[in-house]
Amino acid sequence: MPMKPRKIPMRMCVGCREMKPKMELLRVVKPQDGEAHIDRVGKAPGRGAYVCDDVECLRRARKNRALERALDCRIDAAVFDELERQIGHE
Ligand SMILES: [Zn+2]
Repeated sequence: MPMKPRKIPMRMCVGCREMKPKMELLRVVKPQDGEAHIDRVGKAPGRGAYVCDDVECLRRARKNRALERALDCRIDAAVFDELERQIGHE
């Protein structure tokens, strides 16, 4: 009997809108009192959204405001630049 595939938690990337295993995605979190940032631990409090570990996906989500919608907040250009930097420099 084949092994049952283990259930992998899936999340949707706000950039390409593909469902991917949560582990492969980056979590962007927007704390109540702070700017959005990449949540490396995946457990930071606040509203979260997921994006591929790919600057292109973040740029797409930036352009069509998908990330702002997902986080339900405005995100400054400087914050987006910082997110891009955080993704690009791993
Ligand atoms: Zn993506």
